[in-house]
This record gives sequence, C-alpha cells and structure tokens, in this order.
Amino acid sequence: MNNYKKLADLIFPEITETIEDLERRYPKRDLPAGAKVTRFAPSPTGFLHTGSLFASMISRKMAKDSNGIFYTRLEDTDQKREVAGSGDSLIDQLNKFGVTPDEGYLGTEKELGNYGPYVQSQRADIYKVVIKYMLENNMAYPCFCSPEELSEMRKVQESKKENFGYYADYAKCSKLSVEEAIERIQNGENFVIRFRSQGDYHNKVAIDDAIRGHIEMAENDQHLVIYKSDGLPTYHFAHLVDDHFMRTTHVTRGEEWMPSLPMHIELFASMNWDAPTYAHLPVIMKLDNGNRRKLSKRKDLEAAVSFFLEQGYPIEGFMEYLYTIANSNYEGWRGENPDLDKDEFKFSFDKMSLDGALFDLAKVQFLCKEKLGRMNTKTFAEESYKWAKEYSSELANLIEKNQPFYQQIVSIEREKENPRKDYEKYSDILPLIKFFYNEYYNEMVKELEFPENYSLENVKEVLNEYVKVFDLELSEEDWFNQMKEIATKCGYATNRKDYKKNPEAYKGQVSDVAAILRLVITLRLQSPNLYYVMKILGKDEVSRRIGLFL
Ligand code: GLU
Repeated sequence: MNNYKKLADLIFPEITETIEDLERRYPKRDLPAGAKVTRFAPSPTGFLHTGSLFASMISRKMAKDSNGIFYTRLEDTDQKREVAGSGDSLIDQLNKFGVTPDEGYLGTEKELGNYGPYVQSQRADIYKVVIKYMLENNMAYPCFCSPEELSEMRKVQESKKENFGYYADYAKCSKLSVEEAIERIQNGENFVIRFRSQGDYHNKVAIDDAIRGHIEMAENDQHLVIYKSDGLPTYHFAHLVDDHFMRTTHVTRGEEWMPSLPMHIELFASMNWDAPTYAHLPVIMKLDNGNRRKLSKRKDLEAAVSFFLEQGYPIEGFMEYLYTIANSNYEGWRGENPDLDKDEFKFSFDKMSLDGALFDLAKVQFLCKEKLGRMNTKTFAEESYKWAKEYSSELANLIEKNQPFYQQIVSIEREKENPRKDYEKYSDILPLIKFFYNEYYNEMVKELEFPENYSLENVKEVLNEYVKVFDLELSEEDWFNQMKEIATKCGYATNRKDYKKNPEAYKGQVSDVAAILRLVITLRLQSPNLYYVMKILGKDEVSRRIGLFL
C-alpha cells in the first residue's frame, strides 16, 4: 500500500465506498436535450433575502422553460452560524412566492428526489469518499497549523502587503512529507484537510459566465480547507461534490460569489468533472439620495422578503415586478400580452442587465395596486382573509364575524373595466374599511372634525334635510338627483359651472353636500362610492350615524 493510501485509510477507516460507487448511485439524469438542472442552495443563517428570492426565481424559471429540474439544497455545514428553524422558514417563504422546488430539501425531515440527502450535514459520508480519494492521490493533505500560527502568518502578509491566505510558500503543511503527516496524526494532533492547489495567482483562468460572457480572472492558488475538525466539509468543497452528484447544469447565484469562481473552477478541474455553467446575477441595488447602493439587510426593510409577506403585497404583483427587473424585454412582452400568465414569458440570461437591478418600491406598489384592483371579489376576499389569518388577527376577526358583509364591502367598484385601486397591499384594507363596522365607527366618530370651510350650522342643516328624505332604493342616478335637490334647498349650486359663475350666490356646490355626508358616514374625505357604502350600511345605520352626529 502506498503511503498516501495509508494516510487516507488512517483518517477515514470507515469509508469503503468509491467515487465510482457514487457515480452509480447518482446517475446522469434522464432529461430531454437542453434541460437545465438548477438549484437554490441557501444556508440556514437567517431570513430569505430579496436578492435570494430573485436568484431562486430565475433558477426555477430556467429549469421550467427547459423542462428541467429545480431543486433546493440546504447548505448547513457552517453550524456555528446556523439560526434554528431558518431552513424551514426559507422553504416556506419560497413556496409562498410560488418558487416551488421540483425536488430537494422541502423542510425539516421532508425531501423529495433520488439525489439526496439534500441537507449537507447529512452528506458527511459522501464528502468523505471524495476527500479520501483526494488524499490517496495527493490532491489534498492534512494541515496542523494552529489558529495562532495562522494569525501570525496573516500579520506577516499584512506587513509585506501580500495576498492573505494559505498558498505557495505560506502553505506550510503542503510541504510536509506524507510519512510525517501520518506520524503527527497517530500522535493525536488536531488537523484539518486542505486542497492542494496547483494554481498560480499570476496566471489567468478563462471563464464563461452565462450572464457576463467571457471573462478572465486570476487563477486560484489558495489551499482551501475542505474538511474541518468538526467532521464536515466547507461550503466550497461541498458545493463541488453536490453540484456534481446532483447533476446540476446551471448555477444561478448572486455576484458576491464571483471571487470564489476560480477556486470552484479549479476544484472541478482537479476531479476531471465538468463544471456547471455559472450565471452570476447582478446584485439588487437601491437608489439612496441619488446614489446607487446595494440593498442592505441592515438598512432596508425591503431587503427581507418577509417584509412583503407581512405587509401583504400580493404575490403576483411582487413577482411581476421581479420579472421586470430580471429580463429587460419583459415589460415589452407584458405590454403585448397583458392577459397571459407571466410564466409564459421565456427568460434568457443575455437579457439580464449587468449594472445591477435597481429596486424600485414605488413600482412594486404600482404593480401590486394594479393586481389588487383587477382581482375579482371572490379571490380578493379569499386572499385577503388568508393573509389576515396569518398577519392580522384584527382583520381576520372582522371578516369572520360576517363574511358576506366583508365581501360586499370589498366588492365596491370591483370587476369593472376601470376598477377602483384603493389597496396596494392587504394591510391597507383594515384602515380603509374600519368605518363600516360600528364598534370602530362609534369610537372614531368622537374624533371627527370638519374642515374649517364648513360651518357647523351649515353641516347640520344639510344633515337634517337629508335624513328626512333619503332613499336607498333609488337607482344611483336618482339617489344623486335627490342629493342635488337637498343641495338646492340648502343653498348649494347643483353643478360646478353655476357655482364658478357666481360663487357669492351659494354656500358651496353639490360636491360639498356629498363631502358632508361622506365625512359623517365614513369619517373620511375620500371613500369608495358613497351610494354603495350607504347601501351596504343600510338605511337604519345611515340614519343612526347622521343622528349620532346631530
Ligand atoms: N450556500 C450559499 C449561500 O448561502 C450558496 C452559494 C451558491 O449558490 O453556490 O449563498
């Protein structure tokens, strides 16, 4: 037995499988030509970032458009950084935005597919097979450097203004003989395993990125740690093994991974494996006082997708927005195909902007308002109730008290060519409809104040006249004519033109009469169509409200 093999057996005596066994266990996928296998590989270290949702949406779309597979993999090898439960919530949020995986990690103890396990911490033995192979072939070696030695080395590099890291002559343990390494392990010394890089920082490696095109970067020369003392690999190494054996064809991820690319390329080359096609997405930017900067977890609420869920932005509106920033020709396509499902649009990497997509909350809001305005009553009522059950018990309670009443309220000026667009998100509903409910109305009415240009005397006169005669059985037109009659009676012009011509002759115009009624009944200067509001409240309640005020 040669000494490299001896070393490998000493470190991993329990590993008997070979690379060939793994190749057989995870065969090439049987998919149509051109099918893309993509993945979303989050680390369970916190919340789902808007940029990650963007990347995973594109990964899924690329797979769908090519009849491929989109899978999820949980990258939890850095267990110190893990936030309990965040793996589950990442998947849950992904599903809420409709970025549903075909395969992979689907939450704790749930997974689907033949290429698993899809949680890295459960794949230790798979990684060990590859690391053992690397040790046997002198592609990797044990490193005994202590944290103190490494930080000493860093200081030297700093003072000499040299690159940081473990490379070339700084890679001290790469120079140990295999016999010495065996002896030190047998003596019980602590160690990690490093990849023996063959690269030279002064040379260039050519890379084809699906979005950035042909680029050249400095070769990797870092002898990165591939196996830690806790028995788990590092991310860089795990991704090599996983993307190979899960048969990933395209890696779509944020551009913050660009600097790692030469390392990843060298890892694939060292194993003689085809590297996947990499597509590094531009980061999502934000305009801040006229300057572009990255959307930041610390500063921007909209950096976490939970913000959009909690606020109740309709998923379809939000995803529509992400499509517009993903592909530059999407908006043109949407203009020509207003009624098609957005999934009918085909994504392409070359229609992605390189300078970073600018996140524009106002546009998200505009698109969401459109979506909510055009939703039919039934869907709107259902979706808003679904949202309320999770995020607003106050609204949910109101809805549950009387569902048909709620449906009536949200049906006002809906399902027509030019629907009313009051809501950009579900959390807008409660403040706008509270006045319909007496328990709120009775409290809020105490705060009601009329704008200064309405004298209390005039207001009372209008209300007194109105309450005597108003009739909600009339058609909308006749109902309005009735209001005009009251206007005339109380000294208001029935139209703008008359009023403009001779303002001195009137107390105001019919719109002032409507405003007085609107304020007393809805406690707002703007509300949905007053005729429908009154009809929903009913004659008794309208009279009661006017009476209460008087
Ligand atoms: N686990 C890495 C992350 O958290 C994934 C990087 C990749 O997609 O290769 O972003």
